[in-house]
Formats: sequence, structure tokens, C-alpha cells
Amino acid sequence: MAKAKKPNAAEASLEKQIYDLRQLLEISKSLNSVIDFSTLIDALLYTCMGQMKTLGVAIFTKKNFDANCFQLNRNYYGFELSNDYDYTIPEGHPLITKFSEQNICMTVSEIKKSKIPVDEPLKGLISLDPSLIVPLKAKNHINGLLVLGEQITTEPYSDYDKEHILNIASLAAIAISNAALIEMTTTDMMTHLKLKHYFYTVLMEKLDLSESQNIPLSVLMLDIDFFKRFNDTYGHACGDVVLQMVASVIQQNTRNQDMAARYGGEEFVVMLCDTPSSTAMKIAERIRSSIENLDILYESQHLSLTISIGVAEFDPEIDKTSKILVERADKALYNAKQCGRNKVSLAK
Ligand code: GH3
Ligand code: MG
Ligand code: MG
Repeated sequence: MAKAKKPNAAEASLEKQIYDLRQLLEISKSLNSVIDFSTLIDALLYTCMGQMKTLGVAIFTKKNFDANCFQLNRNYYGFELSNDYDYTIPEGHPLITKFSEQNICMTVSEIKKSKIPVDEPLKGLISLDPSLIVPLKAKNHINGLLVLGEQITTEPYSDYDKEHILNIASLAAIAISNAALIEMTTTDMMTHLKLKHYFYTVLMEKLDLSESQNIPLSVLMLDIDFFKRFNDTYGHACGDVVLQMVASVIQQNTRNQDMAARYGGEEFVVMLCDTPSSTAMKIAERIRSSIENLDILYESQHLSLTISIGVAEFDPEIDKTSKILVERADKALYNAKQCGRNKVSLAK
């Protein structure tokens, strides 16, 4: 049998290019299938570490759509942060301008050799000791920076490597801009919790999964006690600040796979995945007591407030629709109000 011919250098290079193009196609498919912002960032970071063979990677993105600076995303790998820097780069920074004008990525030594002044934002970036800084560019607009950490190999990045990472970055930039748009249109701007309609969309999916795989799921309905009186006494602006604080307590007491939403004015709803009612009651109690113990300092006054919570566990026999489940939690909430407020009540 004839021996397989060893590929020559040109053939090997072509094979590598075909392999990398296939990789790009896979990356594009996987990045575009994720719409949740933080899941997307995580998927991207892993992809970059694998493709570029680095021990670390981080990303700078805008916190929200009207932000005027890029901040280090809290998901990062392989970097030691220092308290000396806030890891923020203004949108108008000369490095960002350079990236907007040219389709390039840069090493720290290339940045130092360029005319870009090493100011505070850049010092923070350089302190991470990145091996390469790559712009995330979608429709000619920079929406973030990808920062690669230490390389596994000692080989410097070739022009081919740089082109490959720029391609990945441009796919990522489009996915990020789509995810940010979805995030924006499904999030309540005041509390940063999800909106009701989005909550129901996800709840319906989770209930199907819960039923088919026999996984428990619970829902909490929460309503601030005597909030009208609170507004009347301290003013609507103060009420708004308090709403944000309450939302943040709810968020802190839920995990990534759960979802908290603003149901209406001062009403919230939480979906607790893989959670039976016994655990949901404990979580609800933790939220109730955290809110009771909040020391709200507003214009040098110490204020406090309480919340009532209804809990219901999904029962496929009763909850034929997601609405029925939420209504049962709402009835339990009503019961908590009737029993004197500042209480957690379980649905029958
Ligand atoms: P209960 O204990 O029975 O829930 O009494 P409550 O006063 O909290 O209930 P009610 O539903 O009567 O009042 C809700 C109040 O929430 C009315 C409205 O002034 C206030 N509210 C709703 N949305 C907002 C908001 O976005 N900001 C502020 N500051 N207040 C809001
Ligand atoms: Mg209410
Ligand atoms: Mg209320």
C-alpha cells in the first residue's frame, strides 16, 4: 500500500487555514446561540484562551448602553488585580481611537512605541501584563476590548495569529452587541431586574424542563409593605432609591440560574430553579429579614421598611400555565399581607 505523502509546508499551511476557518464557523455558531450576556462573555473567554493558547483572558465592556467608558468585566481568568487601578478606559481614549481607525490588535510594547500617552487608564491595562490587546469592533464601532494573558508558548504572535484573533473578536463583537440589545430591552432600567414579559418567557421554558425532567421549581411574589405611605412621607425620589435597594437585596439572594423581575411598581417576582418549596421558604425568609434589617440612609435620616412574600412550588397537576403558578404565589402573598405583613407565606 502506498505510504501517505507527508504534506509540504504550503499544504500544511493550507490545512491549518482550513482548520481555522472551520473553527471560526463553529465559534460564530456558538457565540450567536447565546443571548444571555454573562454566559456569552464566559463562552467568549474560554474560546479565546483555547484558540490563542493563553493562561488568562479578560474583557472590557460598557456597563450599559449609555456608558462612556469600558470597564473590566468581573468574569476574567488568570489576572491578578490591584486596588491601585479601577480598570476603566474612557471611550474617547487615544487607544480606542487608534483601534477605531485601524483594524489592528496591539501588544504592550507596540502601544508604548506608538504615540499613545501612558496615562492612568493605560497604566491599569498595562499592569495586567497582557500579551495582546484586541478591539471588539462591530459595524465600525468599538464595543469592548479583549485582553489576552500570558501565552502558553514562548513564540510571539505571528501576523496570522493576530488576524485570527481579530476575526474571532469581530464575531464576538456582533454577538455582544446583539446580547446587549436584548439585555437592554428586557431589563428594567431603574432596578436592573428583568421585565415581567421576559420573566414569563423564561418561566414557560423552565416549567417545560421542570415537568419533563421532574426538577422542582419555585416562585416568589414580593410586595413592599405600606410603600404608598413611605412615598407620601419621604417623597417619590426617596421611594425610587429604596426600590433600587430592595431590588439589589433580591438580586444578591438569588443565583445566576434564577431570575428576579420587577412585576409592577413595587412588586417583584423571583423564579428559583431546581428549588423545592422548603428551600424557597428559606430564601424568602432570608430576603425578608435582610430587607427588615436594611439601614437606609436618606438625606441624613435612618429609614427602614419591610416586605411580604408569597411562595409557591410548581405542581404540574395544578399549574397548567405559568400564570396559574404566579397567581398561587400572589395569593400566598395576599395571605402574608393579611397575617400582618413582613411575613413569608406558602401557597396551599
Ligand atoms: P401594601 O402593604 O398593602 O402593599 O401597601 P402599599 O402602600 O405598598 O400598596 P399599594 O399597592 O397601595 O401602593 C403601592 C405604591 O407603590 C403606590 C405607588 O406610589 C408606589 N410606587 C409604585 N411604583 C413606584 C415607583 O416606581 N417609584 C416609587 N417611588 N413609588 C412607586
Ligand atoms: Mg403593590
Ligand atoms: Mg405594597
